[in-house]
Amino acid sequence: MNIYVTKSFTPALDEYMHYVKDIFASGILTNTGSCVKGLEEKLRSFLGVENIHYVTNGTIALQLALAALDITHGEIITTPFSYVATTSSILWEKCKPVFVDIEPDNFTIDASKIEAAITKDTKAIMAVHVFGYACDIDAINAIADKYNLKVIYDAAHTFGSVYKGRALSSYGDISTLSFHATKLFHTVEGGACIVKDKAVSDKLELQKRFGHNKDDHITLGINGKQSEFHAAMGLANFPYISKIIAGRKAISNIYDTILKEHIQRPKKQVDLQYNYAYYPVVFKSEKELLNVFSILNDNNIYPRRYFYPSLNNLPYIEKAASCPVSEDIALRIACLPLYPDLPHENVKQISELIIKGLLCP
Ligand SMILES: *Cc1c(COP(=O)(O)O)cnc(C)c1O
Repeated sequence: MNIYVTKSFTPALDEYMHYVKDIFASGILTNTGSCVKGLEEKLRSFLGVENIHYVTNGTIALQLALAALDITHGEIITTPFSYVATTSSILWEKCKPVFVDIEPDNFTIDASKIEAAITKDTKAIMAVHVFGYACDIDAINAIADKYNLKVIYDAAHTFGSVYKGRALSSYGDISTLSFHATKLFHTVEGGACIVKDKAVSDKLELQKRFGHNKDDHITLGINGKQSEFHAAMGLANFPYISKIIAGRKAISNIYDTILKEHIQRPKKQVDLQYNYAYYPVVFKSEKELLNVFSILNDNNIYPRRYFYPSLNNLPYIEKAASCPVSEDIALRIACLPLYPDLPHENVKQISELIIKGLLCP
């Protein structure tokens, strides 16, 4: 059997069908029925937030975040080390991404380099808590206050992480989540916006459903509503969150024990209660990464290059300033298979195959 980097969690079929029966009985399939409302309520209390909007996916969540903050043009300071959606959402909203290099320790945006990238056209900072590691939130806040910039966190990897006593998913003017099937907590497809300011939250609510209240067309909107069937999957998965995190932690601990001496790992902040969303490892060189991959692939194990390439090198953006740390890490980093029902003997096998594939310095 092939082992991939992730495998979607699924609840027992009857646990999902329990909600589907209610959907069929009510005849309400979408437009904020009881499953969507129920899931938003559960998310609100799990994350300890007031204003949350469950939307179609994590990419639309980022686009809605920009729109709700009235950012329709100008420059957005962002990280080159993320999934492509972080950059593409900025471009899709007709703004210009300005890339600031990352911290070598945890791959989040290097806050000490942000000020030098600010111009009169800068509107916001869009940072990513990549792999569930926290950005330097205090430093980013201080810069945003000084220059009157909005802060959006792409918090797609943060579900279940707690930072300085509150959900890592809850910082900034807006934080966005992804509930895609590959994420720690999922609703097949789905995402959310967590909004600090009530007025911005009300605007986003309107924008996510075409911008109108009945016949009253108030603002430009889009269709970002999510269906009852997706929310039902979220409700069925919800009771498993702590089990999912515990299962991931157990696997991460096995990797740690076997690989610790052999391979570079990101540094977790002391204030962070981590969610074990990913298990990234950094090889000494791209050559070493490819050598390890070929050994693993021979054994039907398929890790992924997360994230590659560095987004400042995307072929469809204007030539951007180079980001040497991100470009170097992107060449050498991979995420290892990590999902709760990955058998522990496979985790040991993967670790041992990796050690076999490491090259002498
Ligand atoms: C998954 C992901 C997204 C996109 O989320 P979708 O729900 O797939 O649209 C955005 N940013 C990051 C960092 C992600 O990992």
